Amino acid sequence: MATGDAVQEWLRDAAQIFADRAGELNELDRAIGDGDHGTNMSRGLETALTIPIDSQRSPKDSLKQVGMALVSSVGGASGPLFGTFFLRVGQNWQTPSTTAGIARAVRAGLDGVMSRGKAVEGDKTMVDALAPAAASLEDSAAKNLPLDEALRLGATAASQGAQATLNMVAQRGRASYLGERTIGHLDPGAVSSALILDSAARHIS
Ligand code: ADP
Ligand code: MG
Repeated sequence: MATGDAVQEWLRDAAQIFADRAGELNELDRAIGDGDHGTNMSRGLETALTIPIDSQRSPKDSLKQVGMALVSSVGGASGPLFGTFFLRVGQNWQTPSTTAGIARAVRAGLDGVMSRGKAVEGDKTMVDALAPAAASLEDSAAKNLPLDEALRLGATAASQGAQATLNMVAQRGRASYLGERTIGHLDPGAVSSALILDSAARHIS
């Protein structure tokens, strides 16, 4: 069961991961974009580190706070898109958490990203990591798998989805200007999505 504390720990861990890996994510973005993706994500999530550990704060409020920070503090395409993801996940978060509840929340987050950014699977974006994660969580919910196992499987699906962007041609965002020259490079937003899911799997159970 995910308590408010577990969600806060997840968000704080994610903020730390982006702070630690900003350089690596900037490097991925330098190959097919403008080199700022890691800086964007770490700046947006930095606010999460300032969220006090407070068991009174609901998971919905913590997720909303991170979503708002991403929407308002990041100029790049990714801020509003990841912001929308966290806002929608927060709006649809149910306490106590169950596999089916988290599957619904992640699906709602993905739907928000897709309606805002107009990307579909195969366009070489964050959608290519989030969509397999949502599908995996729904599959786990149908099988009544426990939440920790479902999140581990979901994180693996996100990571495999991110790896699969290597051979895709970017169709959305800045990377799309390079067309076929994006083949052979991972999409930075997909890698970030996999990091967020991996962090969730390590903190929520
Ligand atoms: P910018 O492209 O404005 O510099 P970032 O570098 O922070 O923003 O983020 C780039 C990432 O944003 C890409 O790797 C991709 O995953 C994601 N992205 C860009 N445009 C879209 C879109 N229309 N739909 C979904 N994701 C997108
Ligand atoms: Mg960029």
